[in-house]
Amino acid sequence: MNKLRFFLALWIGKAAQVMMKLLGRNATFLPGKLALKIYPDFMGYLTLPKTVIAVTGTNGKTTVSNMLTSVLTENGYSVSNNSLGSNVQSGIASVLLQDSDLLGKAKKDIAVLEVDERSSLLVYPYVKPDYLICNNIMRDSNKRNAHTDFISYIINRALPATTKVFLNADDMNCSRLAPGNPDRTYFGISAEKPEVSVTPYISDVVYCPECGGLLESEYLRYNHIGRMYCSACDLKSPEPDFLVTEIDRENNTFTVRHDGKEESYTLINDNIVNVYNLCGVIAMMTRLGLTYEQIQKGFSKSKIVKSRYDQVQSGDLTITMQLAKGQNPIACARCYHYVAQCPGTDKTVIIMVDDKGDNTNNSENICWLYDCDYSYLTDPSIGRIIFAGPRCKDHYLRAMLAGVAPEKIRLEPTINGGAAHVDPMNAQQVFVLYDPYSLDEAAYVKNQLIKLGKENG
Ligand SMILES: [Zn+2]
Repeated sequence: MNKLRFFLALWIGKAAQVMMKLLGRNATFLPGKLALKIYPDFMGYLTLPKTVIAVTGTNGKTTVSNMLTSVLTENGYSVSNNSLGSNVQSGIASVLLQDSDLLGKAKKDIAVLEVDERSSLLVYPYVKPDYLICNNIMRDSNKRNAHTDFISYIINRALPATTKVFLNADDMNCSRLAPGNPDRTYFGISAEKPEVSVTPYISDVVYCPECGGLLESEYLRYNHIGRMYCSACDLKSPEPDFLVTEIDRENNTFTVRHDGKEESYTLINDNIVNVYNLCGVIAMMTRLGLTYEQIQKGFSKSKIVKSRYDQVQSGDLTITMQLAKGQNPIACARCYHYVAQCPGTDKTVIIMVDDKGDNTNNSENICWLYDCDYSYLTDPSIGRIIFAGPRCKDHYLRAMLAGVAPEKIRLEPTINGGAAHVDPMNAQQVFVLYDPYSLDEAAYVKNQLIKLGKENG
């Protein structure tokens, strides 16, 4: 009976996939949803690829998942990957459905599955990952997500004890995940050469999770990311097995020390969060058996996908497009910091991170602005800040409280009108920070800026 229901779910799901493709619709969510509706245990009956890798964590899942897929594909593996679709239960069911035959047997060698943390309990009991990588656990949108302790709790509850885990050693929430899993690999960035030194007033780890004592920091890179130890017991950050010892931005390389050797890799993106992501990918690929040459081959041909990061030159204007995430305070603060630390002066930044869905379908929620560190925007290299969107005045108030000089700020009530406030005579670089729900508006602003650069170049 169960088998019959499974095949019914599989075939109806597959038929839906074909129909949606014929209609030119995106089939990354509904077919899986349909199959799960017919048979909630559907995923448990699929014959999965030989190797299943799960990618989870608050920020950077898609980047890690894309990088893993890219390195594996470059080395001849066939990969099932959901990073173009949805990362909740229905999206994962959809990609597995799509990449299996009519008997439910996987057609690909490896699955690289991006798994939303909140879907852990719905996914891991059916799709048991051989490997899991988690790059960070931090506060997220407080409408959509929950407290970091809850997120750790559900991952721990759902993850099989046999999964080999790859964890960020510099994140105390992350490094303590899956306490029962013996096969653990840690990655991190050397504390000897701190890139950033800030006093983190927004931290998700303050007290020792073992004894409640106050945690001291040996060194912090941002928020709670760094090396910590407890003042009352012997808890401390674990030593990374894969450690970034050098970041050479000029030559676009970085060095990783592991197993008694040092290797130099192509730095695909120099944002420090992506250095963590890249180091995690190297750790996992190495333990999976790929050689340095194979990993480096994948890296040298990869880039961060254009919808997340892009840079164009138009006349004298350098335009950098960077995905930020509205409602996600740490992801936004990381983008502000990235703008501040990029070389150069006379920077203009257009911030269009208001969540469109929030404007129309939800109650107003601006408390995340106060969990986000706006003080990075006080950097003297930033000459003008344009807040674009219906909440521009809320951003203005927040920036003022962080000490940003009001004369540097321009307010634009429409989400796509920011380019009109750029002064090409006083801007060499324009950074556009945009929300995942505003990709069309971001593309419009980019085109406006390209025109502006051409007219004045
Ligand atoms: Zn303690």
